[in-house]
Parts: sequence; C-alpha cells; structure tokens
Amino acid sequence: MNVTTQSKSGQMSGHDHIELVEQSAAHNYHPLPVVVSRAEGVWVTDVEGKTYMDMLAAYSAVNFGHRHPELTDVAHEQLDKVTLTSRAFHNDQLGPMCQALADLCGMEAVLPMNTGAEGVETAVKTARKWGYMKKGVAEGKGKIICCEGNFHGRTTTIISFSTDPQCRAGFGPFTPGFTIVEYGDIEELCQAIDDTTVAFLVEPIQGEAGVKIPPHGYLKAVRQVCTEKKILFIADEIQSGLGRTGKTFACDHEDVRPDIFILGKALGGGIMPVSAIVTSHEIMSVFTPGDHGSTFGGNPLACAIARKVIEILRTNMYQDNARQMGEYLLGKLREIKTDKIHTIRARGLWFGIDLKPDAGRARPYCEKLMQEGLLCKDTHEQTIRLAPPLCITRDEVDWAAERLRKVLS
Ligand code: PLP
Repeated sequence: MNVTTQSKSGQMSGHDHIELVEQSAAHNYHPLPVVVSRAEGVWVTDVEGKTYMDMLAAYSAVNFGHRHPELTDVAHEQLDKVTLTSRAFHNDQLGPMCQALADLCGMEAVLPMNTGAEGVETAVKTARKWGYMKKGVAEGKGKIICCEGNFHGRTTTIISFSTDPQCRAGFGPFTPGFTIVEYGDIEELCQAIDDTTVAFLVEPIQGEAGVKIPPHGYLKAVRQVCTEKKILFIADEIQSGLGRTGKTFACDHEDVRPDIFILGKALGGGIMPVSAIVTSHEIMSVFTPGDHGSTFGGNPLACAIARKVIEILRTNMYQDNARQMGEYLLGKLREIKTDKIHTIRARGLWFGIDLKPDAGRARPYCEKLMQEGLLCKDTHEQTIRLAPPLCITRDEVDWAAERLRKVLS
C-alpha cells in the first residue's frame, strides 16, 4: 500500500517523508528520524520548522558550514557559465584547481575524481602501477598493506580490505593483494613488508572506527619505514583532512608528508562530490591517456567550488577555530559528571565518546540528543561521534555542551 504523501495543507510531514523513504528507497542506512529541508552554518531545520545543531557535518563534508556564502556564490556563478565538459575537452577551472590543490598539499600533481571511494580506488591503482613500472614488482603481484579497523569506502575492491564483517558479508568474491596490520603498530607494519609490497594505505586518524588516534610518532615512523623500504605512504585524509583536526591535514600534527594524499568530502564544500589524489610528478607519471578516468572528475562546477575551498583553507581561519573550539568543547565534555562515559578521544573538532558497556548502546543517546536539538552519530554500538561544522562559535559550543551534559550525565 502506498503511503499518503501529502497532508491536507499540501505539505508532507516528517513522518510522511520517512515512510516514503522506507517504501521507495533501499534500506542501506538507519538515519535518525529527522527530515531536513533547510540549513545554514551549523544549523539545520526540519520540514516541521524545528531547528537542530548539526554535530556531524555530513561526515566532515560540510566542514565550512552549510551553504557557506562564498561557496554558494561561486557555485551559482559557475552554474551560469559551464558545468560539465568531460575530460574529452579542457575547461578553464581544472588547471587552476589542480595547481592550487597541489600547492596546498606541498605536492606537484592532482588526479581529480568525485566520491571518496573513487579517490581511494585511484590511489590503489596508482600504487600498483607504480610498483610494476618504478619498483620492479612482478606484474599482478603488488601488495598493499592496510590497517585493522579501516574505513576507505564501499566499492568491491575497498571492502576487500575492510575488517568489518558487515561491510563484506554477501559481497564476495573479493579483490586480492591486501594485507592487514594492527593500526598504530609500527613493528607489525615492518614485518608485513616484503619485496612485493607497493604501498601502505592508512587513515592518519580513523574516523569511522570512532576517531581513533594512533600513538604520537606513528606517522613519522610510517614515513621513515616507507622511505627505507621504498613503498608508497598513502594517507587517506578524506575525513581527517581540510581543517577538521585543527590543521589542514592530520599528517601536519606530526609534520609528515605522505607520498599520496587522498582527499574528498570537504573539498567539494558540501555542494559537489569532489575527490582527488595529490602526489609527485614522478608517481603521477604512471598514468597515460586512457588508463583511468571519470566522466565527472575535474568538472568545472566541482573545480570552481574546490578552488574556493582551497582559498578558504589558505586563510587558516577554520583550522584555527577547529583547534580553539575543539579544546573548548573537550574541556566542557570532561567537566560532565557522569558514570556513562568511558573514554573521550579528540583532535580539533572531532570527538569519539565511548560509553561504558553498562550505559547501553550509543544510538538511544543520539535519539535523546536529537530530541534536545543536537544531531550526532553513533558508530560501532558504543561510540558517539561529534564532528560539527568548523564555523561553530563559542556560544554554539556552550549550547551543544549543555545538551550533551543533560543527556550524558
Ligand atoms: N575514506 C575515508 C577515510 C572515509 O571516511 C570515507 C567516508 O566516510 C571514504 C573514504 C569514502 O568516501 P565516500 O563515501 O565519499 O565514497
């Protein structure tokens, strides 16, 4: 039976929307029961007019806040010029975007794609081809080392090295050529490297795993090992990069540069899916015309927005605010008198709050927080994740902290 899609007033209610999604969309998500129809800055408003603070920022894709005026302006302007050419022709936004992004990363060359998963796929292909062409690994034998608890996306190849059983169940056969090591364990990484190893793929902070931060010095040691063993250090900064942790890249906290950055999410300003790998000319030179590509990758609308994102990042305003407001919110969280919280992990405006086992699952807390006007996301049963837009003000942090205190104490 079809659900009624309009009330007498002609407006669909939140309930109607949720029913319609239940009926007509795949059940591959379990969203909080809120139906957003407008947003600005850190705030979103539902179809009934109730306003909430967004404490997830679309998994960091909305780092600069919803509908940042400079980003929507540039998008509107570009809509009136040209939006898509494909890479069969050049467009006047691609070159400037690639140059600006390479500069921001301290690198030389960019390969643009769209979603994060495509960025990761591109890095995997780059590393394999580099291994065969430049390192002399036998074709078809290239091995990439990944970490326990990783999250790099949802394609068949990427889930081949996921350690989350639910991500894999029912989707095999899988792509071979990946080895798993413990996250944060440099010894295990060293032991896993052999003559066929072409790369180590790692999130500098594991976001989906619950904002897991490796021991300080790990990334520096990874850099050293990868250089010594001549394997590529690939940093997936799709979620950790572009301001979230209080620096432009999470790798900046240890002053290290990987061989390949994978970027996505916030690069599209919360408007367009924009991802990219950024690397040296030497590594990027493995590609020749026809090897790899994407119809939408490098499209002028995406590039115009990404150029503005890079310009905004160049001011360091959002990185600074993430650091300051992150410290401020962490202080507020630590003040909560509670027997429910086990651990709080934080870097910049990124928090994983682990609940004690007897506090119950995280989801009901997220539902209560929603009733209080705060949209947060549970992950892995016992963890509440916070990642508000980086434009959050001190007053807004106070507002959020009060609601967190109420629900978590
Ligand atoms: N890599 C990391 C570290 C991520 O956090 C994500 C998404 O959450 C991805 C890759 C995949 O990005 P997308 O969902 O845009 O494919």
